Amino acid sequence: MKRLTICLCTLFLLAPLALAGPATAADSGSIPGPGLTRIAENVYAYVDIRNSTPQNSFGANAGIVIGRDGILVVDTLVSAREAKRFIADIRAVSDKPIRYVVNTHYHLDHSFGNGEFAKLGALIIAHANDRKTMLQNGAAALQGAKDFGLSEADLAGTELAWPVIAFTDRLEIDLGEQMVELIYPGPSHTDGSLLVFLPDQKLLFAGDALFTGYHPFLAEGNLAAWVKALDAIAALDAQTIVPGHGPLAAGKDLAEMQEYLVIFDKLARELAAGSSDPEFIAGEMKKALPPRPEGESLIMANIRMKYLVESGAQP
Ligand SMILES: [Zn+2]
Repeated sequence: MKRLTICLCTLFLLAPLALAGPATAADSGSIPGPGLTRIAENVYAYVDIRNSTPQNSFGANAGIVIGRDGILVVDTLVSAREAKRFIADIRAVSDKPIRYVVNTHYHLDHSFGNGEFAKLGALIIAHANDRKTMLQNGAAALQGAKDFGLSEADLAGTELAWPVIAFTDRLEIDLGEQMVELIYPGPSHTDGSLLVFLPDQKLLFAGDALFTGYHPFLAEGNLAAWVKALDAIAALDAQTIVPGHGPLAAGKDLAEMQEYLVIFDKLARELAAGSSDPEFIAGEMKKALPPRPEGESLIMANIRMKYLVESGAQP
């Protein structure tokens, strides 16, 4: 496997580190949330977000890994306002410089806050496939964000910032006394969804390859490959897993996610072959799928955007 290790000392020379003062919840205009949950001694995350409105980043999780020399951020939420809330919460637990942002994938609820971190001098990293998609679609997605339920006010000040480092297989980052491995398990939720793994702690940020307690968005997924990717994720033997949405997870949740995808794909194909009515199909799907408390509207979105398109029933 190709590996590339980057060291903070080299990046110091390359990166303009314009460290600004910490933002506060007050000047971000957002409502202070419960803050970051401590997952390990040097790892914090938003997890198990119950309010999954667009304004609340669709309930996306995000987190940080703190090394001796700085902080690595995993995902940046949906807007400048949300990113400022995140930065305020980071500053409540560490004043170390924010060196890196890793986008687990390109979706807006995981990457539209990038600009606020770029302003702090953070280097943004993504998988090459999703970096390409971001460059192609990001501006249009920001323009059309009202289609996702986000108003101009919600996105005030939101500036896109692209990943400046991309990789295809693995990338190791030395934060100082904390190695972080970025791993590509093959296509899953998107073509370039990546994992953030702390091998010494067996701690994993799975991004949206794993949803717990949420129905997943899977309309852009390659479901057969995704099921295989979940095997690769399970092989890491992570003891603590931060999913892209939902509460903290473990190995059994990876198996449940696989089962969900298999059931969804089989049934959606069968139903879409005999009907072009998304409401009927979604109703039947709800009866068969394992219940999850959040994200039920995504069942119909997945039917419309993937299965009815593939069956030719929708453009
Ligand atoms: Zn996503």
